[in-house]
Amino acid sequence: MKQFKDLDLIPPLQRALDDEGYTTPTPVQQMAIPHVVAGRDLLGCAQTGTGKTAAFALPTLQRLDASKKVAAPKSCRALVLTPTRELAIQVEERFRAYGRFLTMRSAVIFGGVGQNPQVAALARGLDVLVATPGRLLDLMNQGHARFDSVEVFVLDEADRMLDMGFIHDVRKVIERLPKKRQTLFFSATMPPPIVELSSRILTNPFRVDVSPEQTTVERIEQQLIHTAKAEKPALLRTLLQDAAIERAIVFTRTKHGANKVVKQLAPAIEALAIHGNKSQNARQAALESFRTGRVRVLIATDIAARGIDVDGISHVFNFDLPDVPESYVHRIGRTARAGASGRAISFCDVEERAELSAIERFIGRRIPVVKAPATLVQAPAQLVESRPAPAASRASARRPRPATASNDQVGQVVWHSGGAPKRPSNITSGMTGAPARTAPHVVPAPGTGANNPSAAAGGEARRSRRRRRRRGGRSEGASERP
Ligand code: AMP
Repeated sequence: MKQFKDLDLIPPLQRALDDEGYTTPTPVQQMAIPHVVAGRDLLGCAQTGTGKTAAFALPTLQRLDASKKVAAPKSCRALVLTPTRELAIQVEERFRAYGRFLTMRSAVIFGGVGQNPQVAALARGLDVLVATPGRLLDLMNQGHARFDSVEVFVLDEADRMLDMGFIHDVRKVIERLPKKRQTLFFSATMPPPIVELSSRILTNPFRVDVSPEQTTVERIEQQLIHTAKAEKPALLRTLLQDAAIERAIVFTRTKHGANKVVKQLAPAIEALAIHGNKSQNARQAALESFRTGRVRVLIATDIAARGIDVDGISHVFNFDLPDVPESYVHRIGRTARAGASGRAISFCDVEERAELSAIERFIGRRIPVVKAPATLVQAPAQLVESRPAPAASRASARRPRPATASNDQVGQVVWHSGGAPKRPSNITSGMTGAPARTAPHVVPAPGTGANNPSAAAGGEARRSRRRRRRRGGRSEGASERP
């Protein structure tokens, strides 16, 4: 197997990889880096967790270092577009980590916060700019950003851009890029609009395919527990008692649900919620506590969790099953990062059977069923919110609140002169001992009725969403701007 030292990366990058503790490139890195270093466009079908960030960041830094140009005011030499601010922050952090022995100026730009520091960062010119499309377009329209000297353009998670309604903004930014540039295009899935966009903006690309089935999903031990809805909090409390759980993300369908689970776990288990109603600062603080291990359990909605890059997540819990089958794969992919294994435990109540069928059709297999532990840890009565919230508070939980403006997370400008903080790079699985201490009962293999599993699964989930809306539930909507 190839090592990083076989990949023709310049010594400052090799040194940074040594510092990170990386020796072996992941498949997407092995396949992509030599072609991108050689200057080719890239079409990478890979999702978060495969090591795709380094696959584009390392050769981009190498190219910027070789070209030795100076970024003009208001412009950047490498532009990376990501769908969410969390992902933007993490990608920029990775550029700094890999580029710590180079002299590069980088910044991250996203919406929901004050624009002044971002304008100031751009004004000086940047080597690397990582941004979400909406804010970037805003700044461009105000004349604060120009893209005519971009040498490398990276579009990350293109399919998410489409899902979240940002593809129009992305197209507008692309119109302003110079024709002569290197383009690196990443998408976990390739729906027709993404195929169309990729063929329009890529020139003779090298294609790398690291499908989720080959990577994350294969390595994750998946389990399903059938349970009554009312029992879910006690079940989660019981399973989280397992000391083998180093770090766990618990997914809920709604923001209100995430807050509620935090309360239901307390005081025995400290957990923090991360979702679209939290201010950017609160989200970052929760992520940091989770990353540093101060809290072991993070409760998240799908949108808030996208792109979360924390090593060593040993378990993912689906407190609620997702409405969209693809989200199941994205959720469980939070564990089993870059070669590690992990465990994903999903709760399914009687109203979620349709979602379960859609997911199983989408992943092409049945999720093995395990029994719930015989005795569940009950919470003190006053902490359990068993009644539905009153109508007024349900409505206010749904109403999106404006993000709190803050200037301290943005427009970060860094001159690399060595010594970026080191992150834990070892990914430990911590997969010892089944949380439910009963032998798994494996359900027979699925039927093979659906010709187009993805489409059929999607249709079923849509119907189920409609049913759920009639029942009064609501997911954290895709219309929410990240
Ligand atoms: P990504 O898919 O880019 O979000 O990367 C997933 C995680 O794997 C991140 O935490 C990276 O820091 C880590 N990672 C990336 N490449 C490697 C590697 N070659 N060896 C070990 N860890 C890696």
